[in-house]
Amino acid sequence: MIRQIPVLRVCISCRKTYDRKNLLKITKDYTQGIMLQKGMGRSAYICKSKKCYSDSKIKKKLQKALKTSLEPEFVEIFEKEITSYNNYPH
Ligand SMILES: [Zn+2]
Repeated sequence: MIRQIPVLRVCISCRKTYDRKNLLKITKDYTQGIMLQKGMGRSAYICKSKKCYSDSKIKKKLQKALKTSLEPEFVEIFEKEITSYNNYPH
């Protein structure tokens, strides 16, 4: 039997390591700009603890991690995404 080795990534907010599939992935795609959970390019990860995704500095941290400025269109998508986590009972 083959054991699946989890791919570990660091949350840009709390700096803890998590299995990649439990993280929110933000990628600066080479051709399509910043994307959520998809795309190819420089990526940053945020864990799904409220402390991290609702951090008031999270967008600044994201911009630093991705070395880019966030487009308003992306911020809107991002905020919709984290609102859905707020509604998610943990
Ligand atoms: Zn975190």
